[in-house]
Amino acid sequence: MTESSPPNPSNLTISGRFDPEEAQTFRHVPFTVPDGVRQLHLSVTYNDRIDSNPLRVGGNTLDIGLFDERGTAAGGPGFRGWSGSNRLAITVGSDWATPPYVAGPPRSGVWHVLLGGYKVGPNGLDYTVAVWFDAGIAAPPLPRLLSEAPRRDALPPAAEANWYRGDLHLHTVYSDGDSHPAQVAAAAAEAGLDFIGITDHNRARSPAGLVPEGDGWPVLVPGVEVTTYAGHFNVWGVDEWFDFRDPSEGGVRRAIEAAVGAGGFVSINHPKPFGPPWEYPALTSLVHAVEVWNGWWSRLNHVSVRYWAERLRRGERLVALGGSDMHSLGLAGAPDDPLAPARLGSPTLWVHAPGVLTAWGILDAIRAGRCFVSESPGGPQLYLSRIEAGIHARVVHATGDALLLIGDCGVVRAMPVLDGDSEVTVSLADLPAGIPYVRAEVHRAGGGIRALTNPVWLAG
Ligand SMILES: [Zn+2]
Repeated sequence: MTESSPPNPSNLTISGRFDPEEAQTFRHVPFTVPDGVRQLHLSVTYNDRIDSNPLRVGGNTLDIGLFDERGTAAGGPGFRGWSGSNRLAITVGSDWATPPYVAGPPRSGVWHVLLGGYKVGPNGLDYTVAVWFDAGIAAPPLPRLLSEAPRRDALPPAAEANWYRGDLHLHTVYSDGDSHPAQVAAAAAEAGLDFIGITDHNRARSPAGLVPEGDGWPVLVPGVEVTTYAGHFNVWGVDEWFDFRDPSEGGVRRAIEAAVGAGGFVSINHPKPFGPPWEYPALTSLVHAVEVWNGWWSRLNHVSVRYWAERLRRGERLVALGGSDMHSLGLAGAPDDPLAPARLGSPTLWVHAPGVLTAWGILDAIRAGRCFVSESPGGPQLYLSRIEAGIHARVVHATGDALLLIGDCGVVRAMPVLDGDSEVTVSLADLPAGIPYVRAEVHRAGGGIRALTNPVWLAG
């Protein structure tokens, strides 16, 4: 989606600078919108631009957002959107707006451009914001969207009743992804997924309404990835936005408490090097879940599993989740090239949701930890449950792999999966005395994880 450029000189320009020591701070740059304006256009230029990849340093990356005349308060109605470093030009008008910005009449008053110096290199970051009123920029054409239900890939069905597969961590053009939410939904359905979560970074409005519903389409779980300069967390099941501008521990604590208080299900994301990492260990106990598997497994996800397992050993009942963090439908790579972009459904989250599948049923399942993660929509499937006699594990489509049962003290049982569909029951008497929980993992015989479950808690 490319928009045309304004034909005339801008109505006003504002220049400023971030010094290197001002990296990772936000500022609100005010400008006044006069009466009677129907469309605003903003363009931002700055020196030494590099992209937002956390591995790239030495230059400047500027994040951009917009607040209208209703003000800049956390969670307030004035937030019109945040496009990170993904866009240098924004149009907001009465009838359309550049994604992810919210369309609507640009009412008169003091607006604010939000600028965040994500990276500020040794030369400093000198910026100029130019603003046009009523430049008459036409809406770009919408991408072609499927009008009927998408065709689904033939996948092995869930071996147990009421289990569904999906991917709750996805990005679209409503932040820095390359596809419209409806295109992501169609691709998810074609990949065999039953549900999706769209978690665009710091989006102002819920993605509900942008995704087709009904027959053949995946169930949408509305979400947002709250993206701060020292860690990201996902919130599902809410329409609100949560403040990302104060990266101090107190600021992020307030944002998490607001998300939990609003009824959201909250997960810290990719707590591993280059994730970007999660730098608020003291706040982890406030959330519900940890994303232990983000994108290709070999991108240091074992660090995230170790982080979660350490919390479990302390008795913190955090739910383990996995999500692809897919940004690009077109460029998705393969597991043997972990530096390639993530692929939708790699990994896949499986949930146990009795009844008709709804967003609330999916959220109830993950709240209760009734979920496991597999490397792809094809599996393997790994079911772990508490039964009267002890613990029951069933693994499906994993011939030649190894099934591990793991407690706080390490691996308590390991067995080869000789047949594609294998089951094992371990009685409580055969487990170490006082073991608080058991969880399961499937590994390739030659190394590399393929699936992992949440724990079954035995104590308390
Ligand atoms: Zn993230």
